[in-house]
Amino acid sequence: MSHHIVQHYILGDKVGCFALSEPGNGSDAGAASTIAKNEGDKWIINGTKCWITNGYESEASVVFATTDKSLKHKGISAFIVPKPIKGLDLGKKEDKLGIRGSSTCSLIFEDCEIPKENILGEPGLGFKIAMITLDAGRIGIAAQALGIAQAALDVAVDYASKRMAFGKPITKLQSIQNKLADMALRLESARLLTWRAAWLKDNKKPFTKEAAMAKLAASEAATFVSHQSIQILGGMGYVSDMPAERHYRDARITEIYEGTSEIQRLVIAGQIIKEYGV
Ligand SMILES: Cc1cc2nc3c(=O)[nH]c(=O)nc-3n(C[C@H](O)[C@H](O)[C@H](O)COP(=O)(O)OP(=O)(O)OC[C@H]3O[C@@H](n4cnc5c(N)ncnc54)[C@H](O)[C@@H]3O)c2cc1C
Repeated sequence: MSHHIVQHYILGDKVGCFALSEPGNGSDAGAASTIAKNEGDKWIINGTKCWITNGYESEASVVFATTDKSLKHKGISAFIVPKPIKGLDLGKKEDKLGIRGSSTCSLIFEDCEIPKENILGEPGLGFKIAMITLDAGRIGIAAQALGIAQAALDVAVDYASKRMAFGKPITKLQSIQNKLADMALRLESARLLTWRAAWLKDNKKPFTKEAAMAKLAASEAATFVSHQSIQILGGMGYVSDMPAERHYRDARITEIYEGTSEIQRLVIAGQIIKEYGV
């Protein structure tokens, strides 16, 4: 069963979702309170996951639930839950600032029964699976942020080259040039960090620190660049006739999900302290 679902997911003909966060814990993922109880040939899941991307469209979910509370985060396991399924309800679609094309909702489990073989790996491996997934996912979020930042820079340069003020295009103004330079600098720095993290991953080298650096730099670059892009467009930056305001709204999430900027800094510092052996 689980093997069958995983195969579809890899082929790309099914959308999945990743259900780790809960109303009571996001950054502190090890404090999950969703429970999976083993009864004979099945698991029974109870609890609520929240903020789940693709909650509405997905045909399966990887759900993290505690199988042994006494072991804390080492008692968390990962399960493949096909959707729809009895005992799983979806909460309302969240009304978001940005990325409004993707659904986000809660998954509410009430005595949801899944076959015993739907556990991913061994019991207790869930937290490790989640952390490995997030390490790789952060390179993806960095790439998403780069795309938003690039689009925000593109629209700013295009607009500035056409917009006349004081008898000349605003690209001739040093204030605008300084903004464009800073925007491109942050974007390109983040792009190199992202490529480095992706290269390390492709070459099977450790990349936890580099992925966190890429995600942190790219998400902050996206917020900065899209902010400046609106400024360069002036009034036209503030209305939905132009895409700058959307890039600004879309950029913001990249500093929050798959670990907030604060959490990326903890990860980076932790890795550096480990490297120095102090
Ligand atoms: C649109 C959207 C989509 C999402 N998609 C998914 C998904 O598909 N699957 C999923 O599992 N989750 C998803 N999330 C959840 C997301 O990963 C969490 O919102 C995020 O990890 C932060 O958790 P929280 O919201 O509980 O904030 P909290 O953990 O409550 O954090 C609140 C603030 O405290 C800070 N903070 C917390 N702990 C520390 C610390 N130790 N040191 C310093 N600062 C700290 C945070 O950085 C933040 O600023 C999504 C969220 C959104 C908004």
